[in-house]
Amino acid sequence: MVSAQTWTAGASPARAPAVQELRAILAGVPDPEIPAVSVIDLGIVRAIEAQRVVITPTYTGCPATLAIEQSIRAALDSAGLADVAIETALSPPWSTDWISDEGREKLRAYGIAPPPKGAAAASLKNETQAECPRCGSQNTEEISRFGSTPCKALWRCLACAEPFDRFKCH
Ligand SMILES: [Zn+2]
Repeated sequence: MVSAQTWTAGASPARAPAVQELRAILAGVPDPEIPAVSVIDLGIVRAIEAQRVVITPTYTGCPATLAIEQSIRAALDSAGLADVAIETALSPPWSTDWISDEGREKLRAYGIAPPPKGAAAASLKNETQAECPRCGSQNTEEISRFGSTPCKALWRCLACAEPFDRFKCH
């Protein structure tokens, strides 16, 4: 395996992208469902190497999974990096804990309540609290297990009466 800093005779030095370059490209790839956050923000990109990007899909069966890989492929190709492979790693499974702090802020600004840190460990049953992304009130209730997509639940704030999507803990 060729690392980012390794150059081997015979390899093409011209298009051996630095890991930083790859990361910058990926940081510009939006999540297909929530364009406000990138695949880096969401923690979908697990590893970046010179010739390989490893991604972990979010929710199993999430219709966005294929779209995410296609978006990353398109971004790499248009940057002249068609040689960079995209691999999918299913284990360990993606968790909402992988969403970066920056990603959480972007979600909130977009009107989606980010999952609390440690949500995976707290288990799926501990989804009784959500903070309203608009007014910050904890006085909220779940309306539906399924929001605008299967990955999100629909909640309502009892303080400002606004409905909002909430990322399901996972
Ligand atoms: Zn509110």
